[in-house]
Amino acid sequence: MKILVLNSGSSSIKYQFIDTGNREVLAKGQIERIGMSSAVLTHIPKGKEKIKIVGEILDHTIAIEYVLAVLLSPNHGVIKDKTEIDAVGHRVVHGGEDFSDSVLITNKVMEVLKENIELAPLHNPANIKGIKAAQSHLPNTPQIGVFDTAFHAKMPSYAYLYGIPYELYRRYKIRRYGFHGTSHRFVSKKAAELLGKPYEELKIITAHLGNGGSLAAIDKGVSVDTSMGFTPLEGLLMGTRSGDLDPSIITYVMGKEGLDVREMNALLNKHSGLIGVSGESSDMRELEEAVAEGDRRAKMAFDLFTYRIKKYVGAYIAAMGGLDVLVFTGGIGENSIEVRKAVCSNMEYLGLELDLEKNKIVREDMDIAAKNSKARILRISTNEELVIALDTEKIVREHLEK
Ligand code: ADP
Repeated sequence: MKILVLNSGSSSIKYQFIDTGNREVLAKGQIERIGMSSAVLTHIPKGKEKIKIVGEILDHTIAIEYVLAVLLSPNHGVIKDKTEIDAVGHRVVHGGEDFSDSVLITNKVMEVLKENIELAPLHNPANIKGIKAAQSHLPNTPQIGVFDTAFHAKMPSYAYLYGIPYELYRRYKIRRYGFHGTSHRFVSKKAAELLGKPYEELKIITAHLGNGGSLAAIDKGVSVDTSMGFTPLEGLLMGTRSGDLDPSIITYVMGKEGLDVREMNALLNKHSGLIGVSGESSDMRELEEAVAEGDRRAKMAFDLFTYRIKKYVGAYIAAMGGLDVLVFTGGIGENSIEVRKAVCSNMEYLGLELDLEKNKIVREDMDIAAKNSKARILRISTNEELVIALDTEKIVREHLEK
């Protein structure tokens, strides 16, 4: 099947057009600065030249029109007719408690997504806009929703509840949801494949480290705990997000600095994390360069970042009562030799030992643990778009069979 995968943000849409038969990406690209007069569309068709178009793209509906136009373009396109798009797979950030798997998007599903806007005000409205735009241009094409939260839906209550009055969970659904589920699912399954062991028998920790980052504890194929929580703010230190902190700091800083709720949210989501601590950059590559040049605050930020990952690894080994595999993925997990080295240092007593030479190879999915390491350490490239395309195909086939 040929599947159009869409990842709609508030001012951007990323897309990939994937042939699930041979898992080939026929075209990919993105539109940035939607809503502005100088929106930019970058389109990379397979085997053809990359193109860039700058123009006014006022909303998501027009943006999808552009995506379809380049896919159909005689010079830069990869299809001749819209009907060659068998289905559209949408990345949806928050499925709330309603979705533990990917779904065919119906009117009822759209209603639930709207109800969940409150849980993910930054992400779900954009996802909904993307779905509506795709529906308006491709009314007869099945649309599938793939949720970041779904893989974590089977966590036990002691992992998803917070220590606040239970009524707040009942009233507002305040609980841990977890995110990056598509990536945690993909790389954990890939890890079992690489090791040639049954997925259902392994204790796996997956570390998805990108601009946002989270760890998941996956016991016998089930995500039993994960570091992101009610929102993607909890857990690890991230590019611009604080991750875990004492909740009292929030009210204290609001009082001291005279910040309102919106400003405090921006402080924790946009001005904290690596950029907040280092004052240098939210980008790990730039931060590592600053560390190499002897920048003290950059080093503090780097140490805080890796120390927190190490703490979570320890916690999840305890949560699962052991560990078979630790997986590094995401832009930092896949590429940063220094981060992997720091996280795995002095972990031999827990059965984790990195092969420092193999750790320097960053090109392929591979085992980078030392020969004697009891648990394996894998570096695996994530591919969320492929998971979305494969889920989409599966659901479309199931519905065709009915
Ligand atoms: P997103 O979460 O936005 O998808 P990515 O998964 O692409 O982000 O990760 C981006 C992060 O990966 C940035 O901090 C970037 O500096 C980091 N990164 C990419 N390549 C390297 C590298 N070679 N060494 C260290 N960090 C890297």
